[in-house]
Amino acid sequence: MSNQQSPSTATGAELIAATLKHQGVKVVFGIVGIPVVEVAEACIAAGIRFIAFRNEQSAAYAASAYGYLSGQPGVCLVVGGPGVIHALAGVVNAKVNCWPMVLLAGSSDTDQVDMGAFQELDQVEACKPYCKYSARPTSIDKIPTTIEKAMRTALYGRPGAAYVDLPADFIQYQINNPHMVDTYSKSVAALPAAAPKSVADPHSVAEAISLLRQAKSPLIVVGKGAAYARAENEIRQLIDTTQIPFLPTPMAKGLITDTHPLCVSAARSKALKEADVVLLLGARLNWILHYGQKPRWSSGVKFIHVDVLPEEAGNNGADTLPLIGDIQAITAQLLRESLPRLPETNAYVSGLTNKVKSNVAKALAIRKKPQSDTAVMNYQSAYTVIKDILPPNDIVFVSEGANTMDIARSFFDVHEPRHRLDAGTFATMGVGMGYAIAAQEYYQSKRVVSIVGDSAFGFSAMELETAVRSKLPLLILVINNNGIYHGLDNEEFEQARRDGTLPTTALLPDTRYDQLCVAFGGRGWLAKDRVQLANALKEAMTVKDNTCVINVMIAPGGRTKLEFGWNKKSDDKSKL
Ligand code: ADP
Ligand code: MG
Repeated sequence: MSNQQSPSTATGAELIAATLKHQGVKVVFGIVGIPVVEVAEACIAAGIRFIAFRNEQSAAYAASAYGYLSGQPGVCLVVGGPGVIHALAGVVNAKVNCWPMVLLAGSSDTDQVDMGAFQELDQVEACKPYCKYSARPTSIDKIPTTIEKAMRTALYGRPGAAYVDLPADFIQYQINNPHMVDTYSKSVAALPAAAPKSVADPHSVAEAISLLRQAKSPLIVVGKGAAYARAENEIRQLIDTTQIPFLPTPMAKGLITDTHPLCVSAARSKALKEADVVLLLGARLNWILHYGQKPRWSSGVKFIHVDVLPEEAGNNGADTLPLIGDIQAITAQLLRESLPRLPETNAYVSGLTNKVKSNVAKALAIRKKPQSDTAVMNYQSAYTVIKDILPPNDIVFVSEGANTMDIARSFFDVHEPRHRLDAGTFATMGVGMGYAIAAQEYYQSKRVVSIVGDSAFGFSAMELETAVRSKLPLLILVINNNGIYHGLDNEEFEQARRDGTLPTTALLPDTRYDQLCVAFGGRGWLAKDRVQLANALKEAMTVKDNTCVINVMIAPGGRTKLEFGWNKKSDDKSKL
């Protein structure tokens, strides 16, 4: 153990920490226990921040989001066995979202493998299906090589997860010559600031330009891959040069401001239906984009698919011209060509922008409809209060929940890239606290505002303690309708409980999530009407070093029909 060692020796834990430091790791998210306490302590001693969570799931979600925001693998450290099983949620989430992340976990002594050791699990195998690389160093001196390979593999190509297994005897190993820690850790290359970038085949680029030139109704779709690639300047220039309308996917909102005149989010269905040539920048033709198929897209639509992963192109039978490489580099490549420009008078564009204007006006009319100050709130009225008070910039939005997230997505404009995190491709609930903590850690001086459903919040509410302990000024708005999708009011709930007919979607009515935060030493407000919400929000915005929860009570009935993202038939803005 480190506190027993003589100063003339070092430990495997210190070698692990020195290697992470050399790889540029600034923060590790995790939970300690035997045998990784020493690793976390050594990280801190090496100048790496360690954010200690309450459940590995949230720690792993935080690491995955940090990977997305920072463009470098987010690192998560957990114990073996159950720790890894809990953290797998974040590993799979990172894989499905294409975010770089490295999971490090302790494991039993190498001479106790298969003996029923403490928390024993074949973690290398358990992680393998979800990781691009999953390995245990073969000896102490190979620790840096394995960690370097995990970091590089997570970052290069399509980003994803990697796993490194750290046996207890490796962690505790006494290295007699402490100078070897420096020598070993620096014997491997440090992680570059970004993955190597390649451009597309020039013939394909020429073909893409010709397709765009012939297109009658071209559309640019930007996804979170473009946000991850930090391609905002090039894409903005491409849009301004070509005057092609664009649609962001949910997490690409803000890559180009939502208020850009060519952003057609508010006429999404019309845009999908009418597009004949689509420049797809970092988005997959999965459920979020209706598989690129009829009836949401027109039958003859052609996709110019820009992606780092060649085999992504052509998925789901789409008619695709692949441009394989880095989005930022390829967009710059396109900008060097002579690009077509849609004339201002183009009927397709004005059809879309007029539809945007009328939809926005309709939404505004609903928002501005006079209401009594004491009326029970619904999503619209609560969000109107929030929107009117939040400053337009320097807010990082985190959102999860079903209707809470869906409605918030179209309600709140985002103006900066990578300033909105949500349930993502895997539609994961429970990511909210981990994401908010990661975002606050990354953005430091900006304000993270989480708009979460009461059910979604429940998945990770204990992380409030993490946030308060870490003095993170998260602002969490729990949109509380007493249940999943929606719940019952007090009377209905009691009646149903007496009758034995309590729906599976119902949660306890009027739960005081605000008091939960207060119990941890954070700040909490209960808001039952618009005035209470406005007052609470204004006060919470002045809090700089503590975590705030506003429990926003809305009518429990709400939408009565259960609607899921993937089968929802409703029209414009249903996904974006
Ligand atoms: P969204 O959820 O916004 O629709 P997806 O996660 O489905 O986006 O798609 C993101 C895509 O971006 C993935 O197919 C991934 O391979 C790709 N990608 C990630 N980074 C880059 C990059 N630097 N250059 C090109 N493509 C990238
Ligand atoms: Mg709810």
